[in-house]
Amino acid sequence: MRPNDWDRETDVVVLGFGGAGVAAAVTAHDLGSDVLILEKAPEGHHGGNTRIAAQGYLNTEDSEQAATYLEALCGPYKVPDAMIQTWAREMCLNNDWMRSLGGDPQEHQHQPEGIEYPELPGAFCVHKFHDGPTYGYTFTWQRLESFVTERDIAIEYEMPGCELIQDGDTREILGVRAEKNGKSILIKARKGVVLTCGGFENNQEMIRNYLPGVSHCYPSGTPYNEGDGVTMAQAVGADLWHMNNYAGPSMAIKVPDFPATMSVQALHFSKEYPGGMIIVGPDGRRFYDEKFKHRHGKVPINGVWSPMHVPTPMYMIFDQDMMSAAPIYNKNPNRGWVPVIEKYDWSDDNSAELEKGWIKKADTMEDLAGIIGLDAGALKATIERWNAQMADGTDADYDRKLMLNPFAASGPYYAMELSPSMINTQGGPKRNEDARVLKPDGNPIPRLYSAGELGSIYSYLYQGTGNIGECLAFGRIAGRNVADETPWT
Ligand SMILES: Cc1cc2nc3c(=O)[nH]c(=O)nc-3n(C[C@H](O)[C@H](O)[C@H](O)COP(=O)(O)OP(=O)(O)OC[C@H]3O[C@@H](n4cnc5c(N)ncnc54)[C@H](O)[C@@H]3O)c2cc1C
Repeated sequence: MRPNDWDRETDVVVLGFGGAGVAAAVTAHDLGSDVLILEKAPEGHHGGNTRIAAQGYLNTEDSEQAATYLEALCGPYKVPDAMIQTWAREMCLNNDWMRSLGGDPQEHQHQPEGIEYPELPGAFCVHKFHDGPTYGYTFTWQRLESFVTERDIAIEYEMPGCELIQDGDTREILGVRAEKNGKSILIKARKGVVLTCGGFENNQEMIRNYLPGVSHCYPSGTPYNEGDGVTMAQAVGADLWHMNNYAGPSMAIKVPDFPATMSVQALHFSKEYPGGMIIVGPDGRRFYDEKFKHRHGKVPINGVWSPMHVPTPMYMIFDQDMMSAAPIYNKNPNRGWVPVIEKYDWSDDNSAELEKGWIKKADTMEDLAGIIGLDAGALKATIERWNAQMADGTDADYDRKLMLNPFAASGPYYAMELSPSMINTQGGPKRNEDARVLKPDGNPIPRLYSAGELGSIYSYLYQGTGNIGECLAFGRIAGRNVADETPWT
């Protein structure tokens, strides 16, 4: 379709005002293009996952080592060598870019613990950075956002891109159909369109269709990433990749009051709590070491890193000693949608959440099983087995090393449902080393680019800070190449 009349025109339309959108928009602008960012969320909720992330971004030390590490992370899920080499080259330049725009890169203090797969070759290329006094608390995002707001880059909030407008003959992307207050707006993009509208964390149908091991899953991040970029790209003939990879699942609290999940402090791999605590699946039995330090949702199964098994519904079962000890939720997290945007203040003694029904209570295990719909005999047998093992402090079933306490001999006992949770999806339209979106035949769709977690390079294992690092790297590449296009006539 080639509309005769456009409501608006610019050189470059960037869909999504998160980290990748910033890098693409700023780069194209600084190369002389007029840029318009369309953002689905209202102002204040924009910034996507980048805004509420832990704010770390990767700046690798050595491109050869970085290429070796990324290839090892991808393992059998290979990505083209040209992509690996481009990622490795550009990933070393993130700090230079931040500094060139007035940023102030600071290395995380906990290196080298931040290296997620230190056993893989090339891993010590990893250096994690943030901007601002410490990581978290949206500091890096604030710096990135300032790069846009201090420039003459137009931004439209609550104006989602809905459809890419493609020439029927040349298959070029000519612009975007967006919506504002239910009204269609046709925007001509003289040079091209960059898709940076995040993943499909909030699209349960795509989650069911594409993500392994989960019938449903909720994000800890923005509720606005609903897979729009996947749908728009598919409609103009894009190939997809990495749709089955995601930074998850983990186990978290999901209540109807909020669109995103809340982290469970008691499950933190290093935190000790008094009292008995286990997690059971719908059969009333344990299924894993509850305190295992998973790697963005991956755990070793038969020696292979695989998505954690999350049999739903899952319940954390605990006793009064744990209930009284501390808030079950991490009250001072520096990341995540609920803490950063909703600012939920969990009660110190968990009583408000008991009152709300998020935590269930009963005097006996049998009654607790009845309330949450589990087989009372099965749950009781699981608790008895746990208590028997705790007599000598050894979890013979799953080799848990922390919180090795038996349950109190008498109630009350508590249960809290846990949901599969994720940080973000990695799949989306396939792109090449020029950040061009590809068709299944390997040829680019003219004038269409992408960056960020929408079709990210990560096909299997994930190194923390790799996503925002990739947003900056491929956002710049997309920005450079779209700015270099000759305007269509
Ligand atoms: C709790 C948490 C912690 C994390 N910590 C880190 C970390 O420390 N380091 C790291 O590298 N990664 C981290 N991640 C992952 C990382 O934040 C994301 O992968 C990355 O920020 C994605 O950036 P993006 O620009 O691709 O997408 P986003 O930042 O999510 O931005 C996408 C934007 O597009 C908008 N949008 C959606 N649909 C449309 C549409 N149709 N039209 C227009 N706009 C649209 C959204 O509203 C959003 O503003 C974390 C994620 C979470 C949830």
